[in-house]
Amino acid sequence: MSVGEGDKERIGFQCLIWYLAVDFSSKNTQYFMVEAITNSREAILLEDQYGAHNYHPLPVVLSKGEGVFLWDVEGNRYYDFLSAYSAVNQGHCHPRIINALIEQAKELTLTSRAFYNDKLGLAEKYVCETFGYQKALFMNSGAEANETAIKLARKWGYTYKGIPENEAVIVAVKKNFHGRTTTIISASTDQAARKGFGPFMPGFEIVDYDNVPALEKALANPNVCGLWIEPIQGEAGVYVPAEGYLKAAEKLCKQHNVLLMMDEIQTGIARTGKMLASEHEEVRPDLLILGKALSGGVLPVSVVLADDEVMLVIKPGEHGSTFGGNPLAAVVCMEALQVVKDEKLAERAEHLGKIFRDRMTALIKKSDMVTLVRGKGLLNAIVINDTPKSETAWNICVEFSKHGLLAKPTHGNIIRLAPPLVITEEQLHECCDIIERVILNFKK
Ligand code: PLP
Repeated sequence: MSVGEGDKERIGFQCLIWYLAVDFSSKNTQYFMVEAITNSREAILLEDQYGAHNYHPLPVVLSKGEGVFLWDVEGNRYYDFLSAYSAVNQGHCHPRIINALIEQAKELTLTSRAFYNDKLGLAEKYVCETFGYQKALFMNSGAEANETAIKLARKWGYTYKGIPENEAVIVAVKKNFHGRTTTIISASTDQAARKGFGPFMPGFEIVDYDNVPALEKALANPNVCGLWIEPIQGEAGVYVPAEGYLKAAEKLCKQHNVLLMMDEIQTGIARTGKMLASEHEEVRPDLLILGKALSGGVLPVSVVLADDEVMLVIKPGEHGSTFGGNPLAAVVCMEALQVVKDEKLAERAEHLGKIFRDRMTALIKKSDMVTLVRGKGLLNAIVINDTPKSETAWNICVEFSKHGLLAKPTHGNIIRLAPPLVITEEQLHECCDIIERVILNFKK
């Protein structure tokens, strides 16, 4: 159906989605109107009917975001306490990042790496200087960045450590989350991620997280080229390892000539109160893996950082991605990181994180519904008392949403609470009041 001016007026303020489509039969370009989404129910039914069922979202349909807030299609406002799994550290639709996106989108968006572009080098220099590495390799999703790190570690192992071809081993840890590709899930211990998706990629040894003797044993194998860990296990439920674990891991890696591959996709970019969570223990990984907030949630941008010896093992044609390192992503990434620095988001996360955990600790004293709070900076989780076993954490999140706060359980009875880092102290207290009110009034 084509739409004229009169139609637009008649439709008035209805929420419309416009598609530019080409009518191939007549070779004419026409505007087609697709029916409007006017309420949450319609949107949910539509996704249910036409979309794959690979997620189980809370029944909230969002249509707008600004800073710490999200709005649903009915116009209800929510505090975002998930931040798209820590991708929106800079707040939704940060004006500076959106402006950078728009300005660059008018000039050039994608060239592929068949040619140079005038923005990639600038972004590479920017991230190398920001994080202190010699080389950067841009990709798109976090999973792709982890895949890149795996390839780098293996090739380095064959080139420099003398590991026999096809025998390289990467040590990973239980309850890890590094993404969803078939190689990555080969190192997963989560049955939901694995069941039905085998056969799996060999070459991974899995040890306990936060267990130094287990690392000592595993890294002694001369075929180990990399140790692949998250500094805090976000998806697993915000598990913070004991102080000293990361430092011990770094030391053991050096001792056994193994690359420390740090997945900071969720913990990086100021989330935990430092630019990188590794900095809490003054650890410098050999392979630093970043994604998510690298673009402030505007585009999929990920990167692997390393020094020359590691990065240059990959030669032309051995790795790449059509979109990886595109000029649009390059510009957005630089602006997103500059916002983090200019707005001192790491310091803010550090300060507000303490206030948040203090408030939750006080709540634990008032209610037996919450048994634990843990985290660093503004990456935190509360553990819900789920005995007898039920959907308690899910139901609490549904209640949160009715009170204007969005959060999601991870792994059953754990609720991750991670607002955009631009949240003010006053807003944080308001959110703690909501959490407290819901928990104190919650009936199983
Ligand atoms: N690594 C970590 C630590 C993550 O938290 C995630 C996503 O949640 C990923 C990797 C995967 O990133 P993506 O979903 O962009 O592939």
